[in-house]
Amino acid sequence: MRFQFYCAAFLMASSTLAHADDAEWKAGFAKVNITPTKPMWMSGYGSRNKPADGLTSDLFAKAAVIQDANGKRALFISTDLIGVPIKMVHVIEAAIKKKHGLSRDQLMVTCSHTHSGPALDDLLSYMLVMNDEDWATVRAYQFDLNRKILGIIDEAIADLKPARIATGIGKTDFAVNRRPPIGKGPVDHEVPVLRVQSADGTKLRGVIFGYACHNTVLSFYKWCGDYAGFATADIEDRFPDCVALFHTGCGADQNPLPRRTVELAQKYGRMLSKAVADVVADDMQPLRGSLSTTFKNVDLAFDRLPTKEEISERLEKGSHYEKARAKILLAQIESDGKLAATHPYPIQVWRLGNNVTWVALGGEIVVDYSLRLKKELGPGTWVTGYANHVMAYIPSERVLKEGGYEGGSSMLYYQLPSKWKPGLEDQIVETVHALKKIASKP
Ligand SMILES: [Zn+2]
Repeated sequence: MRFQFYCAAFLMASSTLAHADDAEWKAGFAKVNITPTKPMWMSGYGSRNKPADGLTSDLFAKAAVIQDANGKRALFISTDLIGVPIKMVHVIEAAIKKKHGLSRDQLMVTCSHTHSGPALDDLLSYMLVMNDEDWATVRAYQFDLNRKILGIIDEAIADLKPARIATGIGKTDFAVNRRPPIGKGPVDHEVPVLRVQSADGTKLRGVIFGYACHNTVLSFYKWCGDYAGFATADIEDRFPDCVALFHTGCGADQNPLPRRTVELAQKYGRMLSKAVADVVADDMQPLRGSLSTTFKNVDLAFDRLPTKEEISERLEKGSHYEKARAKILLAQIESDGKLAATHPYPIQVWRLGNNVTWVALGGEIVVDYSLRLKKELGPGTWVTGYANHVMAYIPSERVLKEGGYEGGSSMLYYQLPSKWKPGLEDQIVETVHALKKIASKP
């Protein structure tokens, strides 16, 4: 019943919002089921000791393309995956350049960070106790996944047609700061929403929305998109012509609490879909102006690198996780002569007309970044995390200093040699400001 009301309100709002320059925009969408069809390992929790044994809800990859009046395109990818492997991004980057003439800055790849999705071909998967056969299954899945994502990119571009696009912000409050003392730290409860309607305003064709919270209600052995998957399914159920795409905000230190039941995941999914539906049904801000896309990798420095002797000692005496990391670090020393002192970190800024500055940051990034960037860049700032490569946790200066899991100890599971060197927050934020300047040039 509640959603019938939203549908009616949405159509009424649409009919009063015809604008002469709406037809300048085009948009296209596509989606594909990426649920593994063979038994395979799940990612997210290093303590899992066997492959998945069932299905609660399907996993999807989705593509959205928007195009301005000048023909400039921006390609957004959303996935029900734990992360964004860099090798997958490189495959997509090469393919879209060759086939569609799109450059790196025009591509944003995101994930929902579901912990009930498959292990991927990246360094995080080395925390799992997988044998060669398990790894072969993971690599075959990844190969197929890459192929599917390239397929939906082609489909979304073929689907480009005149569209009415608008932006807005909603709110929902189930994310809780998980660092001790739990519930006391900062949160970001905003839900940025991009609405795409048909040119005549009668159909909702697509919605892109985000939320800054770990997608970790569940920790079982069944495939599931968790709260984000339930939210997108809910929206698509109610609006049959709509593709709903989720992206994770700066939710590295945020958990959905309480958690651990399917009912709670569904409840948070409904809270999020209601926040989106409320915005979509409202008078949103029509998108004006043109698209601008920027991208830059910066080198984040590690703190003190361990010596070869120290690593060898962990290989002998360390935990399962330390042994796995030691093997990888020793192999790096073997092939490169030394450990890398820095790691490339992707920073992206899109300007959506005059409405939105959309910042996309890599890694599991803590909420301090979105709060600081929204304050410094002003209204109309959206901040997506877990974008374009998830290689580690990215603490703010405060969290790095405080330490703990997000501050440094989680580097072990990403097979990285040490915590980050102080200074990364300013380095990231200053780069965002520089990119915004470039993106804002007429
Ligand atoms: Zn995480």
